[in-house]
Amino acid sequence: MGTKKSVEAVVIGGGVIGSAVTYFLALNHVEVILVERGAIASGTSGRCEGDVVVCDKEPGFDSQLAKLSLDLFPQVASQLDYDIGWTQKGSLLIIENEEEMEAATRFCGRLAAEGIPARMLDRKEALDMEPALAKDIVGGMETTCDGSLYPMGLAYGLLHEAKKRGARISTYSPVVKIETDNKTSIHKVITPDAEIITKNVVNAAGVWAPTIGKMVGLNIPITPRQGQMLVSERAFPVASRKVMEFGYMMAKFGNRSYVRNVSPEMEEFGVALVFEPTEAQNFLIGSSRRFVGMDTSCDIRVLRAIAQRAIRFFPAIKDINIIRSYAGLRPYTPDHLPIISRTEIPGFYVAAGHEGDGIGLSLITGKLIAQMICDQSLAIDISPLSLARFQGRKKDVCES
Ligand SMILES: Cc1cc2nc3c(=O)[nH]c(=O)nc-3n(C[C@H](O)[C@H](O)[C@H](O)COP(=O)(O)OP(=O)(O)OC[C@H]3O[C@@H](n4cnc5c(N)ncnc54)[C@H](O)[C@@H]3O)c2cc1C
Repeated sequence: MGTKKSVEAVVIGGGVIGSAVTYFLALNHVEVILVERGAIASGTSGRCEGDVVVCDKEPGFDSQLAKLSLDLFPQVASQLDYDIGWTQKGSLLIIENEEEMEAATRFCGRLAAEGIPARMLDRKEALDMEPALAKDIVGGMETTCDGSLYPMGLAYGLLHEAKKRGARISTYSPVVKIETDNKTSIHKVITPDAEIITKNVVNAAGVWAPTIGKMVGLNIPITPRQGQMLVSERAFPVASRKVMEFGYMMAKFGNRSYVRNVSPEMEEFGVALVFEPTEAQNFLIGSSRRFVGMDTSCDIRVLRAIAQRAIRFFPAIKDINIIRSYAGLRPYTPDHLPIISRTEIPGFYVAAGHEGDGIGLSLITGKLIAQMICDQSLAIDISPLSLARFQGRKKDVCES
């Protein structure tokens, strides 16, 4: 029998989501313990990129949620006693052909109508902005509000501040059981070393959220979607901001008949250019999207396809060395939106399923969950994010 503790809230998972929830609970004077089975940010939050962007969100609820979160970063970053590497240089979506240009112009107009600072660029403007881009691109879309940071730094920084405000962090403590009182309320969280009596549990376990859900009899439809990344050696300044290709967005947002002019491997592995310069002048080059279970190994065929796609848009990098590669598991939901939700078990909350957006959406997620637990009015109507929206669904995984 481990030590017995009693606390107002337990957060399960020490990625960026659990860290943000813990931070906002501590800000609201809630007595909280974060329980993490490994080290902080040892899950997906330590195997990703650090983009905080609105440019790749579906205009409407998705973009509004992302913008609410993005707007929290400058203030939180300035209040943390920790450097999370926050910069706000904007992002550029590059356009390869006229068909993409038409779609991008419509997409940009819809984002702008939502109040997002997005504008179209012709070829000359895009090349003036990023001169190393391939000269045959057709144009671009710029979003000036987008930012980036160090994801692991974000998790550590938020928890550093939360600890100063009384939060407790328990690492290398896997949650093995959650006890309820006949499913009418949460009673206890159990790890190998401790029994924690509590009325509130937040499941922020990313791709492991379904396992935590099962402990209280809930089905949580989150599936791991692998993404691989390359890290370059320090090199000359190739790009000054985040650069992505627009073509992938067309497939992501509805135009499913659109097929990019890419190799069969790129199509099969879901490879699309994401290029992020870091302060240290290395580049993060991605990425891929595949359903391969919990596999976090890199596949040389996928890495090669990512490199080829990056060279197509930035020919000058063809001789730069790659010093590292890694793969992470995006917590995917069937409708691409996260689950930020109360559940049928009072006191059991889900904050998971952010797929490729968890870094950017971390702060609004933490804020919303803290508002729910503290019975405050919510920053946005979260019915599109409820766990209940999946009830009755037969298929948990849909390919996009
Ligand atoms: C290649 C790649 C690039 C990405 N780029 C971006 C980007 O640029 N911008 C962006 O916004 N998002 C990006 N993402 C997505 C983002 O990384 C994720 O959405 C985010 O990290 C998810 O955070 P999380 O806290 O939900 O999950 P995690 O970071 O996985 O945290 C969950 C934690 O729960 C812990 N846990 C599991 N089981 C238990 C248990 N039984 N007891 C206790 N703890 C447990 C795990 O150890 C883990 O630390 C990217 C993802 C990938 C793979």
